[in-house]
Amino acid sequence: MRNLFRMALHFTSVAIMGGGLSGPILALSLQKLGIKATIYESRPKHYPQPGTIVLIPNSLRILDRLGVLSAIKEGAFAFNLFNLVKKDGSMIGRLIMGSEERYGYTALRVYRDKLRSALLDAAEKSGVEVKYGMRCTGIETETSSQATATFENGEKAQVDLIVGADGVNSKVRAHIHPDIASEYTGGMFITGSLGRKDLGNVEWPLPCVIPGPAGQFALAPADENGEVFTFFAWINGQERTREEWRVLGANKEELRKIIQPYDSDAYPDVVRALVTEIPLDGLGCWPFQIVPKVETYVSDIGRVAIIGDAAHASKPNGGQGGSVSLEDAATLTIAIKKANTKENFGEAREVLAKWDSIRVQRIEQVVKAPMGMGMNMGSDDPFAKEGWTKEDDQLFWLYGYDTEDFEEAL
Ligand SMILES: Cc1cc2nc3c(=O)[nH]c(=O)nc-3n(C[C@H](O)[C@H](O)[C@H](O)COP(=O)(O)OP(=O)(O)OC[C@H]3O[C@@H](n4cnc5c(N)ncnc54)[C@H](O)[C@@H]3O)c2cc1C
Repeated sequence: MRNLFRMALHFTSVAIMGGGLSGPILALSLQKLGIKATIYESRPKHYPQPGTIVLIPNSLRILDRLGVLSAIKEGAFAFNLFNLVKKDGSMIGRLIMGSEERYGYTALRVYRDKLRSALLDAAEKSGVEVKYGMRCTGIETETSSQATATFENGEKAQVDLIVGADGVNSKVRAHIHPDIASEYTGGMFITGSLGRKDLGNVEWPLPCVIPGPAGQFALAPADENGEVFTFFAWINGQERTREEWRVLGANKEELRKIIQPYDSDAYPDVVRALVTEIPLDGLGCWPFQIVPKVETYVSDIGRVAIIGDAAHASKPNGGQGGSVSLEDAATLTIAIKKANTKENFGEAREVLAKWDSIRVQRIEQVVKAPMGMGMNMGSDDPFAKEGWTKEDDQLFWLYGYDTEDFEEAL
């Protein structure tokens, strides 16, 4: 009888393509439920990944429940407000991004590579197998009982469920949406970092965004003690191929040249000094690529799904991309758990469909939220037009989101 019941379980082995942010969280959550999860990651475990990322309460809650928050918090810059300031330092508005009191968590700015390593370490420690250097090339077959992924090195993985957490240029997505490709939105961030001592006297409240004719310039402490600063300069630019973006990212002199329009008297001295004297070392560029809206994150048969940027990469909007990707992972785990129960035998596709429709709606709400962080000046972003005034509970729907409530919604 026991064996028969085990055979009735729908998802006992899950292959996750991509070990970025959402992949390790999904694997770790599944492993904690006793469901075997394997991550296939195209890159090595450690590779240079410049820059920082903001984590806000909706994802910090997930990391906390999984027991990985303390490792991530260590050395991170904690803050509650992002300030929009004029050239003279006067305040235009503020956007609340965290609050221990209201949402249970202060927002954190963390180094990307440190975050990724912490998540992969936690997954591996819990027993998840992570196979590095495994580039998924697509889904070969999908039947009512299994799906098979193929890899560049000729290997294959046959499991109960394949999840594409393989980012904006997802190969798994092509199985569900063959006609959907990522699109370049015409903008990019050029980012860099430098020591506080090289920055001189910054009198404004930090972190902050300074708008001006060249675009928006954001400046933020990157570590706990504010010893290192990171900046993001918004640049409009032409479309490039992936290879051309890679070449541009490696050409530090060119990146510095591109940010020279910020050396203008429309910006404060600190910005002008920064763009002309920034050390070339830490400079990098991030093109804004999006995935056009798709109506479903699950295949027709229900043995293949996509999460995170693979499903809904969007323009930076209030630092939400990573956080909603973690929400996807945590809620998909709850759906898989439900599909595996005896009561839901035979209903797995329906359970995934419910997960799918709730997540598609949530993502639409987040993507549409006017959280442009001042980065959409001149657009219809009300924060940009009126300044940031949302220091109230209007954002509870976003930061208060608790994936634990998801079980009830399913
Ligand atoms: C400039 C910029 C700033 C941002 N700032 C923030 C921020 O402050 N806060 C925030 O929450 N979000 C931010 N985001 C968004 C955030 O980075 C993404 O939403 C998040 O990384 C998505 O996580 P993911 O796991 O879905 O994908 P990723 O983090 O992209 O991970 C995908 C993984 O899949 C691997 N992979 C790719 N292809 C394959 C393949 N074929 N086979 C196997 N593995 C593969 C990759 O190597 C990678 O490890 C920002 C994005 C940009 C561009």
